[in-house]
Amino acid sequence: MRFSQTFIKTLRDAPKDETARGAQYLNRAGYVHKEMAGVYDYLPLGLRVLEKIKKIIREELNAIGGQEVLMSTLQNPAPWQKTDRWDPEKIDVWFKTELSAGGELGLAPTHEEPFTNMMKNYISSYKDLPVYTYQIQTKFRNELRAKSGIMRTREFLMNDMYSFSADESSHDQFYHEVEKAYARIFDRLGIGEDTYQTFASGGVFSKYSHEFQTLTEVGEDTIYYNTDKTVFLNEEVLEDEILEEFNVKRNELASARGAEVGNIFTLKTKYSAPLELNYTNQDGERQPVIMGCYGIGISRVMGVIAEKCADEKGLVWPEAVAPYRFYLIGIGEKGQARAEELYKGHEKEILFDDRDLRPGEKFADAELLGIPYRIVISDKTLNNDAVELTSRSDSETKNLPFSELEQMFS
Ligand code: ATP
Ligand code: MG
Repeated sequence: MRFSQTFIKTLRDAPKDETARGAQYLNRAGYVHKEMAGVYDYLPLGLRVLEKIKKIIREELNAIGGQEVLMSTLQNPAPWQKTDRWDPEKIDVWFKTELSAGGELGLAPTHEEPFTNMMKNYISSYKDLPVYTYQIQTKFRNELRAKSGIMRTREFLMNDMYSFSADESSHDQFYHEVEKAYARIFDRLGIGEDTYQTFASGGVFSKYSHEFQTLTEVGEDTIYYNTDKTVFLNEEVLEDEILEEFNVKRNELASARGAEVGNIFTLKTKYSAPLELNYTNQDGERQPVIMGCYGIGISRVMGVIAEKCADEKGLVWPEAVAPYRFYLIGIGEKGQARAEELYKGHEKEILFDDRDLRPGEKFADAELLGIPYRIVISDKTLNNDAVELTSRSDSETKNLPFSELEQMFS
């Protein structure tokens, strides 16, 4: 992409109420535009980051048998009434709206009910199981407080998967596959080292759920862990019973701030029973389907990466999610001409700063935007038939001959 042809302008200031550092950078660098508290637009660069996150999630979920669908956002109250979750006392973050023809609709805060209800059309026998469906979709939640930029918003992008199994052992097997797939996803996203699977409180039917918590100062949650890092507990489950189960004492636990990037639940028949999602087993008996649900906050993940992967100059995207791999700057007439040449054929991987600006301004924007590699071509580098390549993550600079640079492109 040519910088001169985008409408993006980097900004000196972030919106006044944007307090988290990463969120300030996302606004200033033109990844997002803040509509109002808790509501954001994703601009071309931000959208590319989201697409990269989505691609990794899709690859890993397809690999364990997930089938992608796209459910509606507008919700029929009926299935939610059957599970008693239409009641604002039960889900306090509902956004609801009215049909002009009369009647109420909801804007989906999550999708257990519509998935369970829909699957009644497709599951009738043990031969139809298991089924794993997932989607990447917008959720709406009337959160009391929006926080930390895109980390807690009222409209956000979630990846949610639902599993439908015949019995608990096949459910448990898949649940374990998801745990591993999630670990791979967070690894590939560049936050694996700081993301821990923690014990959290579950629903009514399953005692516990598992959260995936990424350590970060801006996280809203407190997690407790023992120093050898084999036990991770969410604050809600910090009770004697659990401590005994894990054989740790309260004073052996340290605490840290975390952001919940994912959450997985065993649902058993919590939704299939009231919505009558049943199947006929091998003995001809009708049984409720055993379910699980699994969610990753895609836009929150982008926010968490922006908070964690940044320094005093700007963002430092991990390569896997960076909108472009290279930020190209040509200095002087010859440098600019040679940069034009390099850009051709590599348009998909390069953000070419061909704007009519001083090099200093381009260098500052390269740092703010956080593209992994900066390529500078100038008279000096051309003398050696080379470029100056600087890594954003460790600021290391080297002179790289064009021939070797070519090998870095895919
Ligand atoms: P939280 O405890 O942070 O409110 P939750 O437990 O209600 O989240 P889930 O229903 O488990 O969230 O949703 C799955 C994932 O969606 C969460 O793990 C989180 O990453 C993301 N998520 C939830 N609420 C929001 C929000 N308001 N803004 C952005 N992402 C969110
Ligand atoms: Mg949760």
